[in-house]
Amino acid sequence: MFLKSLEIYGFKSFADKANLEFSDGITSLLGPNGCGKSNIVDAIKWVLGEQSTKTLRAGKMEDVIFNGTDTRKPLQVAEVSLTISNEAGALPLPDAEIEIKRRIFRSGESEYYINRNRVLLKNIRELFFDTGVGKSAYSILEQGKIDQILSSRPEDRRYIFEEAAGISRFKQQSIDAERK
Ligand code: ATP
Ligand code: MG
Repeated sequence: MFLKSLEIYGFKSFADKANLEFSDGITSLLGPNGCGKSNIVDAIKWVLGEQSTKTLRAGKMEDVIFNGTDTRKPLQVAEVSLTISNEAGALPLPDAEIEIKRRIFRSGESEYYINRNRVLLKNIRELFFDTGVGKSAYSILEQGKIDQILSSRPEDRRYIFEEAAGISRFKQQSIDAERK
């Protein structure tokens, strides 16, 4: 599984549609301070279902929508699509390529899609369970995250091992079953 491409429109500083193609191996983002490098990482976290505005460096969730500049009007909607190669079948869908998409309106409402079908956030979460990708997984390690992991309480640190061991999916199913 690897990231193939990312399309960003209206998200944070990306007022115009931006299309990033990733190839196998390492990708580096270079540019001056404030040019939008971290916003690209935020876009990846966001499309994977991130709900924490703090993690996304935003006040409220609608703040991820382009809020205008001296010369451009704010936009009403933000959209991010991430295309993932699934040739090795790491994700539990038959497709060799999977596109996930999230859209948000100024009302604060988010829509999620998998391969252009409207889904719930829960379905996005389920898709990435036990893969190390997704919200609170260990595939995105930003500045300070390593320190945070090392200094967190053992119960909080355990999720990383549960994800790597591949039991997060079963844990969630058990929580859901108890609720019903
Ligand atoms: P550094 O090298 O300092 O880490 P960076 O390339 O990571 O910089 P980002 O943090 O990605 O920079 O981008 C910051 C810019 O994004 C700021 O100029 C900020 O005004 C802009 N920005 C953030 N949210 C929005 C928004 N909703 N609308 C418009 N611009 C935004
Ligand atoms: Mg940055």
